[in-house]
Amino acid sequence: MTVTEQQPSEPLRGLAPVHGPPPRGEHGPGPVGPDAAEVDLDAAESAARDFLRHLGVSLAPEGMEQTPGRMARAYAELLAPRPFQLTTFPNEHGYADFVIARAIPVHSVCEHHFLPFTGIAHVGYLPGSRIVGLSKLARVVEHFARRPQVQERLTQQIAALLTEQLGADAVGVVIEAEHLCMTLRGVQAAGSTTSTSAMLGSLSKDADLRREFLSLVSLSGPGR
Ligand SMILES: [Zn+2]
Repeated sequence: MTVTEQQPSEPLRGLAPVHGPPPRGEHGPGPVGPDAAEVDLDAAESAARDFLRHLGVSLAPEGMEQTPGRMARAYAELLAPRPFQLTTFPNEHGYADFVIARAIPVHSVCEHHFLPFTGIAHVGYLPGSRIVGLSKLARVVEHFARRPQVQERLTQQIAALLTEQLGADAVGVVIEAEHLCMTLRGVQAAGSTTSTSAMLGSLSKDADLRREFLSLVSLSGPGR
């Protein structure tokens, strides 16, 4: 992922550092995904074969012979965000109300159990100096989701990046997701979802603004 805009700016931290290592603040990007140069699918397939064997899973049945390779490729895909450019534009007309993208799909992998967690993200901001193409909000979600994650950090990383790149007056991110490590095993809380939110800028201080944002993302919109 790289960043382009119509005026020069700092590179996107933690993603394509050009001027040194990324800062790692409280809401910073945290661990990044695997380095493509270090992905060895053959070795991963071999390890998956051993992994299944040690769990007593026979690969003899027809249809399972290729399973270790499929496992390796599937996880590689889950851990590799597609490259994209976060193009931003000057907020020339001074738009000052919420811009919100609702129900963006979230597909990630829990870093504790390496099982998927999936759900939706609502991402919104109050524009400051810059605006961004709406589809790019979904790509930012994907960028941070395609790596070993915890939902709390994923939520904060999306909000922090948009705050930094847009100079936004406020950024809000709400994620609702089902964690297979919680619903298929352990407590087996089938159907339960986990909600997390990150409210940055004026959203962190202004309760009325926060209520407005939450009503826009979760209560009044379609699809609920
Ligand atoms: Zn887990």
